[in-house]
Amino acid sequence: MPRALRCATATTSKIKSSSSLPCSSIRGRRAGSPVVIVAEVQALMRIAVIGGGASGLAAAWLLDGAHEVTLFERAPMLGGHVRTAGANVACAALPSGVKLDAGVIEFDRRTFTAFHAWMRELGVPCPDLQDGGSSSLLLADGRHLHSPRAIGRQRQGPADSLLDAAHLIPAALRRRRFLRRASQLDERALAEMPIERLLSHDDFSKWVRALLMYAYSMHYEEVASLSAAMAVPMLQDFLSDSLWTHMPEGVSSYVEAVRRSLRAKIVLDADVRAVHRGATGVAVLQRGLDAQQFDAAVIAVPPHRVLDLLEDATDAERTWFAGYEGSEITTVLHTDTAIYERRGVRGFTEFDLFERPDRGYGYNAYLNRLAGLSEDDPPHYSLAFDMDGEIDAARVLHRQRHDVSKYTDVALRARQSLIDGNGANRTFFVGAYLGDGLHEGAVRSAIAACEKLGGRTLTHGAREDRRP
Ligand SMILES: Cc1cc2nc3c(=O)[nH]c(=O)nc-3n(C[C@H](O)[C@H](O)[C@H](O)COP(=O)(O)OP(=O)(O)OC[C@H]3O[C@@H](n4cnc5c(N)ncnc54)[C@H](O)[C@@H]3O)c2cc1C
Repeated sequence: MPRALRCATATTSKIKSSSSLPCSSIRGRRAGSPVVIVAEVQALMRIAVIGGGASGLAAAWLLDGAHEVTLFERAPMLGGHVRTAGANVACAALPSGVKLDAGVIEFDRRTFTAFHAWMRELGVPCPDLQDGGSSSLLLADGRHLHSPRAIGRQRQGPADSLLDAAHLIPAALRRRRFLRRASQLDERALAEMPIERLLSHDDFSKWVRALLMYAYSMHYEEVASLSAAMAVPMLQDFLSDSLWTHMPEGVSSYVEAVRRSLRAKIVLDADVRAVHRGATGVAVLQRGLDAQQFDAAVIAVPPHRVLDLLEDATDAERTWFAGYEGSEITTVLHTDTAIYERRGVRGFTEFDLFERPDRGYGYNAYLNRLAGLSEDDPPHYSLAFDMDGEIDAARVLHRQRHDVSKYTDVALRARQSLIDGNGANRTFFVGAYLGDGLHEGAVRSAIAACEKLGGRTLTHGAREDRRP
């Protein structure tokens, strides 16, 4: 084992045994905070973190101080899918001071325990969304299914609310049946099948497909090949009683807090072309620059981009990543409420799912509540996906492109083997794709990698197990 990695293993055991350290010995942290423990640094390693999205930021933050970290990000700003117009993305069409998220918008309090522990540590406010968040399914045949909380937002009399609640009963029964069947399948079985095998043609199945389109920002027609190993745990969490949190100052406020607190070197506009692993270290090559030498690399780029970086990929790495394909999607910030008016809907939610005649589904996330703006008066801001042709071009404020990976059953089949073998060859992979595909997965994957490398660790409560 190379010396630096041997020492890192020793550091890891030190972290474990240091959990009873008095708080006064927790370096650079609030007295009394039980959350972050900084290991005694026994060996300083030079570590390259490649990719500055949620997982790369979490890895850089956890390793910072214990090791010498350089964070390489291809874009001119940090954040990955965290794109806040009026903050880390310029948007001339927005009034000064208004910040709207055009990518990541919210987090579940009950299951994103590592992410929320990190936010507490960073001092970034992440309050619960008033009423916890809700969803509506607006079908092309004119029927509307509103979740119980969305019913409360429809500004209607008790009789109509009762009728809306009655419309939910068949979907609620299907939901129970789905959750029961899903709970009988172990991870191995789930990894072998697309989610489509567990769905049917009823309204509940339509709602689930549209929710998955939303959660993984994938075109509706691609949902059929989404892995059940990715979809089922997420559905088991979110079809129960989720409690959404948000960042009124924009999600990029946490990215900025991380950036401010890092001592690591941050290299933006850094298009890393290749990472070579040798007997004594890792070389990182940027276009037109000399190779830089490190002791280890944390690779935090989307999984469909990993093999482009690894010219010397091992057979195992090829198996882990060959199944991932990329896709470019666009989200749209706008103020067009006619998409609701045409359908006679009065209450807007953060998860409004639209069936579009002959065109699959799109979503619209109402943003005023998330951004802490008035819901009584216009402008009513929204973030839409695949609603083209329905939104008045004159009301579009910003279009945001996102580089996303497809989580197909083919790609996800090798995930467990990747998790088990992660860290070989001085290379640690992190990313949302190693967990729930969302921010919690991104942060947990960074924690897992950094436990092996030594550094800080974040202690956090377990996810609430709400599975049937
Ligand atoms: C539109 C949209 C909305 C979403 N909404 C939510 C939400 O509300 N809540 C939630 O929890 N999750 C949401 N997600 C999921 C989101 O993808 C994850 O939560 C998380 O942000 C992913 O982080 P990551 O670090 O794994 O990857 P990414 O965010 O993709 O970060 C990868 C980074 O690597 C960089 N990179 C790539 N190649 C190179 C290279 N060669 N050299 C250097 N850098 C490189 C990229 O520029 C990028 O910054 C959303 C996703 C999308 C697309």
